[in-house]
Amino acid sequence: MIIEEVNYLSHPDQVKLIPGAAKAINTLNSLKIPVIIVSNQAGVAKGFFPITQIPLVHERLNQLLARENAHVDAIYYCPHHSEGSVPEYSFQCKCRKPKPGMLVEAEEKLNLNLTQSWLIGDNITDMEAAASVGCNSILVRTGHGKQFANQYLPGGTIVKSDVYEAVNFILNSFSNLGYCA
Ligand SMILES: [Zn+2]
Repeated sequence: MIIEEVNYLSHPDQVKLIPGAAKAINTLNSLKIPVIIVSNQAGVAKGFFPITQIPLVHERLNQLLARENAHVDAIYYCPHHSEGSVPEYSFQCKCRKPKPGMLVEAEEKLNLNLTQSWLIGDNITDMEAAASVGCNSILVRTGHGKQFANQYLPGGTIVKSDVYEAVNFILNSFSNLGYCA
């Protein structure tokens, strides 16, 4: 949602920020609104890349954000998939979206209130994860979001063109916590 879509992104060189993403996060940072990333990384369970790639990708992401004076407060990821090929990661977990495990963990660890938070995502599963725990949500039309133009969305889902527009909408409407997926 803040990184340009690459199927099973696994290398730092593949990380490109979506235009406006760093600026949007910078604004949230300056307002002291926590920004948390919650991402499904089933490529680990499927054996497409080793889990050790994930911190390298995060490091690159943090570098790119830092160049624009932006940072995220936490990153949660789910390396699991029920039909993976790597036994250690292949089971029904509680964190793979649409399950809300990563949101619940962030709420506990960062002392947030999910009902006053927003999840911005590009997939129906993001919207479902948010809805299941009473978190507000915005679907953006970047990445996977392009394909959900006319599909059913969980009640209350707001649609915006990209993360920059989504964050502006949140800040203009309310002033609570922000989430990025
Ligand atoms: Zn998981």
